[in-house]
Amino acid sequence: MIYFSEHELQFLFLQRYTESLYSHFKHHIIFNAMVSHLFFIASTLIAFGLLTYSFLRIFKIIKLLRKPYSISNFGERVKRLFTIAIAQEKILRFPLIGLMHALVFWGFLMITFGSGEMVLDGIIGTPFDNNPLNDRLFKFFGTVYNVLIAGGDIFAYTIVILVGAFLVRRIFMHIKRFTGVELRHRDHKDAAIALSLILLLMVSLAGMNIAYNAGNENVFGVYPISSQLTGIFEGMQTHTVHTLELVFWWTHILLIFFFANYLPYSKHFHVFMSLPNVYLSRTEPLSKMTNMESVTGEVKLMLDPSLPEPQSKGDEPERFGMKDVEDGTWKYYLDSLTCTQCGRCTSVCPANQTGKKLSPRKVVLDYRRRMEEKMSGLLKEGKKFDDKKSLLGDYTTAEELWACTTCNACAQECPVSIDQPSMILEMRRYIFMEQSAAPSLLNSMCTNIENNGAPWQYSAADRGKWADNLTLNDEAKTPVKVPLMSQIAAAGKNIDILFWVGSASSYDDRAKKISRDFAKILHHAKINFAILGSEESDSGDNAKRAGNEFLFQMQALTNIEVLNSYGIKKIVTCDPHDFNTLKNEYPELGGIYELIHHTQYIDELINLDLIKVTNSTFSGKTITYHDPCYLGRGNGEYNAPRNILKSTSCTLTEMHRNKSRALCCGAGGTQMFKESEPGTKEVYELRTEDALEVQPNIIATACPLCMTMLTDGIKMKELTGEVQILDIAEITVKALGI
Ligand code: SF4
Ligand code: SF4
Repeated sequence: MIYFSEHELQFLFLQRYTESLYSHFKHHIIFNAMVSHLFFIASTLIAFGLLTYSFLRIFKIIKLLRKPYSISNFGERVKRLFTIAIAQEKILRFPLIGLMHALVFWGFLMITFGSGEMVLDGIIGTPFDNNPLNDRLFKFFGTVYNVLIAGGDIFAYTIVILVGAFLVRRIFMHIKRFTGVELRHRDHKDAAIALSLILLLMVSLAGMNIAYNAGNENVFGVYPISSQLTGIFEGMQTHTVHTLELVFWWTHILLIFFFANYLPYSKHFHVFMSLPNVYLSRTEPLSKMTNMESVTGEVKLMLDPSLPEPQSKGDEPERFGMKDVEDGTWKYYLDSLTCTQCGRCTSVCPANQTGKKLSPRKVVLDYRRRMEEKMSGLLKEGKKFDDKKSLLGDYTTAEELWACTTCNACAQECPVSIDQPSMILEMRRYIFMEQSAAPSLLNSMCTNIENNGAPWQYSAADRGKWADNLTLNDEAKTPVKVPLMSQIAAAGKNIDILFWVGSASSYDDRAKKISRDFAKILHHAKINFAILGSEESDSGDNAKRAGNEFLFQMQALTNIEVLNSYGIKKIVTCDPHDFNTLKNEYPELGGIYELIHHTQYIDELINLDLIKVTNSTFSGKTITYHDPCYLGRGNGEYNAPRNILKSTSCTLTEMHRNKSRALCCGAGGTQMFKESEPGTKEVYELRTEDALEVQPNIIATACPLCMTMLTDGIKMKELTGEVQILDIAEITVKALGI
């Protein structure tokens, strides 16, 4: 006789009961599987249909907008895609919070594989009739499948923890970056909704994985965490666990469909957009501002009326600059859709930090909001649609735009490669060229450039006067002659390099000393150089950044004509603004030269042993170096000036914001030629405070404009005489003892 325990009897009863139920409801179960399968296909079609609709609207707008630049340079773009978007290089500039974000991103990438498999599962009908798709995938991908599934499983739990932390941080902690006039109540709500959806997605994924491991003997793939948590379902019948697995499966897949369709209308659209936006971003140096092709033809005609009239192109802008969203390029639109609202840009903006109204995040969000407002009209009526409102004025104000120093700190910091300064410049162009409504001091600056070839009321004939009566400070008091290019050419001689002096270093009394010292260094190193003297004219850098593209191109084309007439190939300059303009903005206009900044040149002279820093003028002195934006962030030169300083045996101390994170001095973007916008303090004051924190004897810099601003800062702090401001050329001359 066989005896059964009560538990075994219960089990046998349940088994019989289930079997009889199964045979009874077999047809219903098959029917339900069919219904589930059809429901899945219908949900997939709806989800993809809605997503396609959203993307089609975006594509139609993209087609309506101007092309920003040519999308060439494939290798560089792929490199950026991997370093910035996939390796999360910029996010990781803030190590802890950056790593948390990067883990979520990498987790999403891995989980996407599993999500793809789920959609395939659903289309084939695997979850409803036990067709072993994952068995086939497992056999096909082998170890790779295991790694992806294991990674997805680990990341599901990691993301739950991280997103939970983000939610707590966002809701309960006061993070300055998450505040600002541009962030409305619904933006905060949107952020909380998106984070909650991600949390639910991960919880349902984890639940599904645990149930799958608990309810199946043959498990495909490796689930390092979920396989350890199967105890949660202990005591439940296999049938119940399978049902739960299916419930989690449906919850997860429907959440994916909902989330995907929520994204295009949310700040979290970067989930889709960050990879293409980084790939399509500008590959040129940050401080290069695009030249307006539509202006070039007209300027050339003004300079030479014998030229044929420029042919108009179909995609030319109807206006100069950007008044409203349809005047922008499709990259501005992609940028605005990609913005994560992280506020990294605004947190490093010198204008914003000194209480001005400008917030680069707002500029980007304004574009998106205005496009949302105008999109339906634009899609129906095209660019002629007019709702009597505009981006400039109704969203972004002139006061915000004029506060920008074009320092590019925002673009440098943006984790998804958004180009805020270009948007700002486009709107300045509209104000200057279409409205003639620039600040009056900028109008005066432009008039001076037109009349005198310099931003001030100085005579063009006096441009080379800084070089008069130069002597080397050696015992013999050797007179230094700075030759003019016209004399060299007349004598039929050649030069090694042209010294481009620039407006500030030609006319500003303090900056003239930099030019004189650099000329001494060149002479001391026996470099065969020359200057253009009165043949040199303003580079047009300030006119361009004020929005006066006509004047910029007039200046550029005039200078290029002079430079090319002498066959100039190599140029050195002490002015990072002109260095940037000649290096990056002249080539498209026909001026192709090798540009060297004077710090790079001096560094090279030291390396080649052409000059020898032997005396100990700076030993025991603490020097801190201020990175000019147009040399450092703009063109990536951080080491040359530091190498020179180190060679002087000084103590080089870094400010807390240095190199690519250096704060602007406040002069760039035409700020030096106008009143600053209302704020809590001047940018130069803040930067001087940065420098004074490290208690230097000397603040070194490598730009005539930075020199002016920092000198003002030291005056304001009443430290003139106690803390010196010196250019790298001046430090080199002292260190050489010449
Ligand atoms: S370029 Fe500099 S000043 Fe202008 S918005 Fe960006 S960070 Fe601010
Ligand atoms: S523009 Fe870039 S840095 Fe600024 S908020 Fe948007 S994503 Fe962040």
